[in-house]
Amino acid sequence: MRLPFVFAKRFVAGETFEATVPKIKSLNEKGISVTLDLLGENVKKRTTADETVKEYIRLLNDIHSAGLKSTISIKLTMLGMDIDDDYCRDNLYSLLEEAKRLDSFVRIDMEGSDYTQTTIDIFRDAFKKYGKHVGIVIQAYLHRTKDDIRDLAELGADVRLCKGAYKEPERIALQNMSAIREAFKEYTKILLEKTPYPRIATHDDELVEWVKEYTGEQKIGKARFEFQMLYGLREETMEQLVKNGYNARVYVPYGTMWFPYFKRRLMERKENIWFVVSTLFKK
Ligand SMILES: Cc1cc2nc3c(=O)[nH]c(=O)nc-3n(C[C@H](O)[C@H](O)[C@H](O)COP(=O)(O)OP(=O)(O)OC[C@H]3O[C@@H](n4cnc5c(N)ncnc54)[C@H](O)[C@@H]3O)c2cc1C
Repeated sequence: MRLPFVFAKRFVAGETFEATVPKIKSLNEKGISVTLDLLGENVKKRTTADETVKEYIRLLNDIHSAGLKSTISIKLTMLGMDIDDDYCRDNLYSLLEEAKRLDSFVRIDMEGSDYTQTTIDIFRDAFKKYGKHVGIVIQAYLHRTKDDIRDLAELGADVRLCKGAYKEPERIALQNMSAIREAFKEYTKILLEKTPYPRIATHDDELVEWVKEYTGEQKIGKARFEFQMLYGLREETMEQLVKNGYNARVYVPYGTMWFPYFKRRLMERKENIWFVVSTLFKK
């Protein structure tokens, strides 16, 4: 059974690019940049992955033609990581060729821990070839991030730091919120020190306030990093950050394959369930 889109609309901007454009424009008008995510994951057939590459290329061109202040975020399992690593890398390169031609940018989202190593390997190869047109995501809750963050920072990679959204066992990931927050702070410091423009992705006020204080104390300019939040959450906070001179970007997911993303949002915060219920009763 497929749930109707009305359930997801609190967190998903639309089912098509056309339906999403007004929302991107409205964010851009408020000085907020966007990263657009065509939802989907774990593609098993080459024909579907091939079609996805074409759709992403179309999307980069549509963003460019519409003059939107938006980059894109993708998942490597949409480009065939479950099929074959080399095939997936080639698909990513096709997309990055277009991103380079349009002077745009592709962020590789981080998925569950089974994919971490391959995602980092493919990113490193892509970074050598496409430099500023490609970035990666690192999850503060993973134990291995201690090492990964140093390697990626030494490279000068463009990193989005988040807590991590997948259910991982204790041997792989921290389980306790205060330990995750401490790790997040430690990794933010490394990224601020070593990389040109870290992306701090969290809705957590404690971390947002800490970043503001830390960068203020260290005299790190507001233009040296950006805050990122998810569509449908904390838009007022983003507007306030922009008014206070910080850079802000909203991750805007769209498309018909919204269910796994929607489920992760419901699982991570019980208040999100109430948001959805209240949306159902709003026009
Ligand atoms: C831009 C972006 C990109 C992401 N990309 C990835 C990715 O590639 N891979 C991945 O695994 N995960 C990704 N995530 C998800 C991320 O890993 C977390 O699962 C998610 O952001 C929840 O963690 P949090 O730090 O935002 O706050 P939480 O841990 O959910 O909440 C901590 C505290 O923050 C406050 N808070 C949180 N939300 C709200 C709210 N809506 N209103 C008021 N207070 C609130 C509350 O005090 C809460 O107790 C991404 C997140 C963002 C923002």
